[in-house]
Amino acid sequence: MSTLESFLCGRWVSGAGRPATLVNPSTEEPLAEASTEGLDFGAALEHARHRGGPALRAMTFGERGALLKSLASAVHAKRDELLDLAMRNGGNTRGDAKFDVDGAAGTLGAYAELGASLGDARALLDGDAVNLGRSSRLAGQHVLTPRHGVAVHVNAFNFPAWGLAEKAAQALLAGMPVITKPATATALVAHRMVQLLVDSGALPDGALQLVTGGAGDLIDRLGSQDVLAFTGAGSTGMMLRGKVNLLAASTHVNVEADSLNAAVLGPDVERGSDTWDLFVADVVRDMTQKTGQKCTAIRRVFVPAAMLDAAQEDLADRLSACRVGNVLADGVTMGPVSTAAQLRDARAGIERLAASGARVVLGGAAAVQGVGAPEGKGYFVAPTLLRLDDNTRGDDVHEHEVFAPVATLIPYGSVPEAVALVHRGGGSLVSSVYTDDRAVAAEVALGVASSNGRVCVVSAKVAGAWLGPGAVLPQLLHGGPGRAGGGEELGGLRGVSLYLQRTALQGYGPLLEHITAGARRVG
Ligand code: NAP
Repeated sequence: MSTLESFLCGRWVSGAGRPATLVNPSTEEPLAEASTEGLDFGAALEHARHRGGPALRAMTFGERGALLKSLASAVHAKRDELLDLAMRNGGNTRGDAKFDVDGAAGTLGAYAELGASLGDARALLDGDAVNLGRSSRLAGQHVLTPRHGVAVHVNAFNFPAWGLAEKAAQALLAGMPVITKPATATALVAHRMVQLLVDSGALPDGALQLVTGGAGDLIDRLGSQDVLAFTGAGSTGMMLRGKVNLLAASTHVNVEADSLNAAVLGPDVERGSDTWDLFVADVVRDMTQKTGQKCTAIRRVFVPAAMLDAAQEDLADRLSACRVGNVLADGVTMGPVSTAAQLRDARAGIERLAASGARVVLGGAAAVQGVGAPEGKGYFVAPTLLRLDDNTRGDDVHEHEVFAPVATLIPYGSVPEAVALVHRGGGSLVSSVYTDDRAVAAEVALGVASSNGRVCVVSAKVAGAWLGPGAVLPQLLHGGPGRAGGGEELGGLRGVSLYLQRTALQGYGPLLEHITAGARRVG
């Protein structure tokens, strides 16, 4: 069995002690081991601060964009190998694996273009200079410059390639060195990706380091110039952001956490119409793609009460065609969840939703024998549709995310009631409204906006071009308020600004112009 090493201080190293074992979730066969015990994270941080940081800051945005372009090419060149690893270690179907790996290369490519558009700039101007008196003698100008610390990235198990790439793209473009830590259980893809990125020769020494295994004391060593960007469970995010050293140093922390994303079917939509079909396709895709382990997946499906039976029938019909099993077996359309812990949580979660007032109308918590999997092996869950007839009940349906192929149908009586129900999620990454009625579109989109990082307005007009709410695009914000962690990533330069300090320069106007010559205005 192979040992996955970490890449620290320019060397591949492995820890001592009892390693964690990575398995194939379709078969439970062990694939690799990883340990970080005894590794010197203090030295890794110093290496990034003293080598990677200065080298990146010496480059222009355009040069860093060119670096990202090389990284995108390095990932793309080994696409098939990465897809294979994602299938074996993540339980991804080939389609799921492409979503992750192509998303990684695509996001690096998008930030490469953004860098190219900023050209020779090393600093950015946030808005125009303002006169502070009657003349331009005394002026002020807001500037954005890279923080002089390290960007530490802690990622979830579900998107080992994209999660690494999207965070790294933003930090590297800003000019900050990265230490990336994938979730241990599915680290094979991220580990191979970092090998490829390092071997590409595009990265300055210390610009990218990898922790394969536990984070040890890495987070406890962060200070005021560092950034922590975390994706994972809300409880872990809360624990990390509450660390005393981070609070004391006001370290910038971005959290992407749990999310009870919603879909609202408008009262105008008729069964069998284009908009109805978009709605059904999105719910089914979100429940089954990556076995429902997408932070953006639709979990709560709000339908006009009169249409609830029809929606249930069409969704159950489509979901019943799903073949659950070993992703390497012929005809399998949905793989296992990625870990034994996820399987336990998914089963317990379905029971919790049922205890909260919802009833299972398809699937359920019972064990599933996966097609093409060894007898009794593999972490399989059936696509599970629940129905909450009394929408005043079911607190857990709004509060407990089951990170698996699970969603709940919920009736509503009026559009304001649907809006109020969406807000009960306590803050989500994305919600969608399916309607061809402009008034409904406006009422829902603006009505739910304060509880969502992104709102999708889906009508017949976008049929054929629509990617679904689960596709996170580099141009648009990813993150959400409240339960979703309160973070903001991507959205073009908006996500990059996490790694930049905004400073107000104040002084003699012409001197400020001299100081900021060559900086690019972005705000
Ligand atoms: P998790 O258990 O919180 O783990 C996430 C990451 O945190 C892993 O890399 C894990 O490392 C690390 N970690 C755990 N304890 C830590 C500690 N004490 N110090 C430092 N790092 C620590 O979450 P998960 O099970 O991987 O992910 C599932 C959850 O992530 C779901 O609830 C989902 O909603 C959320 N998610 C959110 C988004 C989003 O963008 N909002 C995206 C994907 C997933 P180890 O693996 O080594 O333990």
